[in-house]
Amino acid sequence: MDSSPLNALTIDVEDYFMVSAFEGRVSRDGWSRRESRLEANTERILSILAERGTRATFFVLGWVAEHFPGLVRSLARQGHEVACHGHEHRLIYHQTPQEFRRDVRRAKDLLEDVLGQPVAGYRAPSFSVVKETMWALDVLREEGYGYDASVLPAPHARGGLHGAQRFPHQLQGLWEFPMSTAMIAGRPFAFSGGGYFRLFPYALVRQGIRACHREGWPAIVYLHPWEFDPDQPRLPCGTLDGFRHYVNLSKTEEKFRRLLGDFSFGTAREVLQKYGGTFRCESTKS
Ligand SMILES: [Zn+2]
Repeated sequence: MDSSPLNALTIDVEDYFMVSAFEGRVSRDGWSRRESRLEANTERILSILAERGTRATFFVLGWVAEHFPGLVRSLARQGHEVACHGHEHRLIYHQTPQEFRRDVRRAKDLLEDVLGQPVAGYRAPSFSVVKETMWALDVLREEGYGYDASVLPAPHARGGLHGAQRFPHQLQGLWEFPMSTAMIAGRPFAFSGGGYFRLFPYALVRQGIRACHREGWPAIVYLHPWEFDPDQPRLPCGTLDGFRHYVNLSKTEEKFRRLLGDFSFGTAREVLQKYGGTFRCESTKS
């Protein structure tokens, strides 16, 4: 058991048809009419975490808080951190700053109404904090968020911030917890979540986390409830998007269990606080 340092475990709470790969093919207006597998898949993750006594941060869509308030309350009741993944999973660079502000305010309002407590963290859909949308961090700070976990300092299909700092730091008045990367031939590569986590052999993920530790920093892992569901309905999408979404879904749970056995995890907020982050957690209901 590698007990130090404490790493951050994060789950982006969205249903299988809400992901960016299906945007344009699955209308948001039809979300509530589709078969939802969100509660069952999230419960599956919660039961594994309960078995291990591990806490995580769940970045939840405002839409999910609106339609599944009981699920959101149960995350908090079980000791997990609830943070925000935006309202309707819109990529930041498809929004104006005003639209983005409305989106993150609405989601924070809904989450805080359901939870009865302030929400400190935010993660953008598909890591869409990119060079052109750095204004989003100013909006988040102004809207009372205390930290962001949206920067992926490596190439990514829809996001990624080339040259960004690779470990927790302060950025535009917020704490930023960038996704973990491993340096290979002098270049950063993502490995610790989503399609990367499912595609790479577990040994490589473990090596990546150990490499972060050797650099003196914690790692951050991100997964989604639908990644634990090999039986989810297949939706039409591009070949590459389809590969990324469906590759090795049947292996997620087993790898996840190994990961929890090999390393210590806590919430993003808890890990950031260990590194000096104190958060303004302003309620939007002041
Ligand atoms: Zn997402």
